[in-house]
Amino acid sequence: MKINYGIHWFRRDLRVAGNKALKENWKRSDGKVLGIFCFDKKFLSRDDMSFNRFQLFIDSLVALKEELQTIGSDLLVLDVGPQEAFKGLFKKISENNLSLPSHISFNRDYEPFAKKRDAELTKIFEDHKIDYFHHRDHLLIEPHELSKGDKEGSGYQVYSPFARKWLELFKSNEIQVRLQEQKKGLEYFEKYRMNKIPKIFSYSWGEFFGDKITYPKTLELYSKENQKKVTIAIPKAGSHEAFKLLENYVSKLDSYGEDRDFPGLEGTSKLSMYLKNGSVTVPQIIAYLNLKPYSKKSSSRDVFFSELIWREFYYHILDRHPRVEKEAFLTQYKSLEWENNKEYFEHWKKGTTGFPIVDAGMRQLKTTGWMHNRVRMIVASFLTKDLLINWQWGEKYFMDQLLDGDLAPNNGGWQWAASTGCDPQPYFRIFNPWLQSKRFDKEGEYIKAYLPELKNLPAKALHEPIHGHATYPSPIVEHSEQRNKALDMYKKARG
Ligand SMILES: Cc1cc2nc3c(=O)[nH]c(=O)nc-3n(C[C@H](O)[C@H](O)[C@H](O)COP(=O)(O)OP(=O)(O)OC[C@H]3O[C@@H](n4cnc5c(N)ncnc54)[C@H](O)[C@@H]3O)c2cc1C
Repeated sequence: MKINYGIHWFRRDLRVAGNKALKENWKRSDGKVLGIFCFDKKFLSRDDMSFNRFQLFIDSLVALKEELQTIGSDLLVLDVGPQEAFKGLFKKISENNLSLPSHISFNRDYEPFAKKRDAELTKIFEDHKIDYFHHRDHLLIEPHELSKGDKEGSGYQVYSPFARKWLELFKSNEIQVRLQEQKKGLEYFEKYRMNKIPKIFSYSWGEFFGDKITYPKTLELYSKENQKKVTIAIPKAGSHEAFKLLENYVSKLDSYGEDRDFPGLEGTSKLSMYLKNGSVTVPQIIAYLNLKPYSKKSSSRDVFFSELIWREFYYHILDRHPRVEKEAFLTQYKSLEWENNKEYFEHWKKGTTGFPIVDAGMRQLKTTGWMHNRVRMIVASFLTKDLLINWQWGEKYFMDQLLDGDLAPNNGGWQWAASTGCDPQPYFRIFNPWLQSKRFDKEGEYIKAYLPELKNLPAKALHEPIHGHATYPSPIVEHSEQRNKALDMYKKARG
């Protein structure tokens, strides 16, 4: 007998609340939806793989699985890439005279690797004559919805006009309906917390397979193995933790505009690590905070909103120009003659360059898996324009270390700092690390938090070269000299 049930393929949408594709599947399948997640070996051997970030991901999957079980569904985690996983699953289902799913759903992704994978998978679903559908999820406005008026399909390459157009679309009825849906979805969190969510799903993998098939405890095995390689404390995972963070951040939102640039203050939301795996999304944040369009940024809420739009901007760029993953967006800078001094690179990674603000940032990254945005800009500028090291080395190291490591904003951030990207920092604008630290960490609170060996120095001494310290190094380069070299390097590439 044919059973009407669906499978939702989770990827980077690790939550139930506001998960549109999951919800639609639930409707089409009368509540009989099973979740699946596939550990793609190709992904695990990518050179931007980070064990710390992977642990947060595993913990998010554990939280999701528990939640799905609480509300009457389940998550099957398979130890193979999705191509093999789905083919193997369909084979087992057929061999056991069970029904193939009526629907498969997933949410869209925009990374080149994911787009290729999804095209392959939809072909497999078609070959098995299984209906599938997908939805927009972690972006509020997708690249195909926002193009320049003049040429069809051409996108903006400068943030300000992009943001203007984005905000114009934001006011449309269609986008407002999306936000209303997300608002409604948010009620779920409160109800779940109060144990008021009934078993809205009505199918588990156990019920489906009976005792015909058992799968290994992939999630537990992966977690045990990966734990051994984790080097930092991993924050609590899952969409309920993300939502709690968002709720708690509300009280700080009105000072975001003033505080966000000062790394010594806890002025930013730290939502990025939850955005990365879809424990929370930009549409949810906008809906929850009730953010309103602005024409001129006049409040902290506007500034915060504009940062969320930066995230969307970088996703649009990656989607339209996938080559940025491998090369400079501005083609004249593909031929920059970097010095790529390996010894300097090691100092940068270890936080022993002798520039306290840079070293504090790099140690924050290494010990916590996160770095403040202002300091990300400083260390990225320092790597490229003081140490004359290819931005791609820095980009890769960030991906090794960051809990929020995410291709589009990471690539965008690095190409911005290196002046090679869309709407970048102009090449001749080179951060002076001494002035940056004096301006943004005047009292040295941030520096001292990560460089305890400097805790007895007066704040003023942290913003100039330190010589003769017992344990802290002298600067490895001289800023003004390196600045001139960088200018020459860029000028040469520009011809
Ligand atoms: C060199 C460099 C590398 C970066 N790498 C990443 C990365 O791998 N992953 C990542 O999510 N962000 C990255 N960023 C952007 C930014 O630094 C982080 O998003 C931000 O620091 C995260 O902290 P938060 O959540 O407290 O941000 P908040 O200030 O609270 O901002 C809220 C959200 O807005 C978005 N946002 C804020 N600033 C930016 C920005 N400059 N660009 C794009 N989106 C932004 C993020 O999604 C963030 O979570 C990078 C920036 C630079 C300069």
